[in-house]
Amino acid sequence: MDHFLYRDGALFAEDVPISEIAAAVGTPFYVYSTATLLRHFKLFDDALNGMDHLVCYAMKAASNQAILKTLAQAGAGMDVVSGGEYLRAKAAGVPGEKIVFSGVGKTADEIRTALAGGIRQFNVESEPEMEVINAVALDLGVIAPITVRVNPDVDAKTHAKIATGKSENKFGIPIARASEVYAHAATLPGLDVIGIDVHIGSQLTELAPFELAYTKVAELTEQLRAEGHNIRRLDLGGGLGIPYTRANDAPPLPVEYGALIQKTLGHLGCEIEIEPGRLIAGNAGLMVSKVIYVKSGEGRDFLILDGAMNDLIRPAMYEAHHDIVAVTEPAPGVEQRPYDIVGPVCETGDTFAKQRNMPPLAAGDLVAFRSAGAYGAVMASEYNTRPLIPEVLVHEDQFAVIRERPSFDEIINRDTIPEWL
Ligand SMILES: *Cc1c(COP(=O)(O)O)cnc(C)c1O
Repeated sequence: MDHFLYRDGALFAEDVPISEIAAAVGTPFYVYSTATLLRHFKLFDDALNGMDHLVCYAMKAASNQAILKTLAQAGAGMDVVSGGEYLRAKAAGVPGEKIVFSGVGKTADEIRTALAGGIRQFNVESEPEMEVINAVALDLGVIAPITVRVNPDVDAKTHAKIATGKSENKFGIPIARASEVYAHAATLPGLDVIGIDVHIGSQLTELAPFELAYTKVAELTEQLRAEGHNIRRLDLGGGLGIPYTRANDAPPLPVEYGALIQKTLGHLGCEIEIEPGRLIAGNAGLMVSKVIYVKSGEGRDFLILDGAMNDLIRPAMYEAHHDIVAVTEPAPGVEQRPYDIVGPVCETGDTFAKQRNMPPLAAGDLVAFRSAGAYGAVMASEYNTRPLIPEVLVHEDQFAVIRERPSFDEIINRDTIPEWL
């Protein structure tokens, strides 16, 4: 559920008409709903009720400072995957003890930044990385809390580019080697080995892969405890999918996911951490764009928008579907026609949808891409020297620009000319 609904024939974000935001900031832009962000966070938080837990928002999904602050004020921790994200989380007021550092190749500099600023734990992905964390911790005279990310070799049944839990993926250490790696970790004086981490992929639409993975984590917990390790925290990653198609998608609900965690891991008495990103931000954001031209082609018609693949890359990158709706609600029973919906970038990949049924639309009309809040703005680029589009946050009847559209001068002046030119 989200807070982008039609009222009297116009699409609203909470209590603000989308057309009003468009008039104020220009198109294209991203808009997020505070109420939806908070609702999704709370669904996870409530789903783990009764267990000692922390929901760490995977901020790579949408990392604007205002979004982080909104979630942090509700009690969220953060899952970061780079030194830059760590600094972003700190800047938004998240204390170090609520920041988890994930990611497959943390550099010594990034590790130093996090250890100096305070960190809840590092999720270690390899033995060489473990050695570097140990060395940096000893150098700083601190102890680094760590978990080891294990790769449980389960098929997450999701898009190949976002599956991470099969043995051929680059993530974590094979679960079969865990015993050896934990024994190694225990010999390193700069580390405190506190738990186990697992993350098998993103946009999972069934619980079965989670169940397989978490069952393996439960067995591993008992085994490592028997081997003398004080396993007291389990980080279960993110990955729960969202409905991208209103009509027929029904991924599991956070409450069902929480019940699965209780069932598979509840008896172990560990503190539970989860790292949802997409499910918190995805349906809390729209990308709003304007029709520039309606063009009739050979046997097909094109809606050419002012938004493009550089603004929202998911269709080009993951063959992702986004529902695209008219900001002015179509009259009931109006005849829909198929369009190819495209952006202006000089690549055929700049196609958002093919032969998508849409109500009659004309140049100047606004459309909204639903479910664009996660992996939208954060993956945008300035390809074709198209400025990064603004982000707007709505809270009830207020809205604020939370990232401005840069001017062309700002973009051009980022380049510098060598003195020989
Ligand atoms: C990307 C990622 C997440 C978040 O995944 P979602 O599908 O957005 O919930 C969580 N943990 C790790 C380690 C990740 O890489």
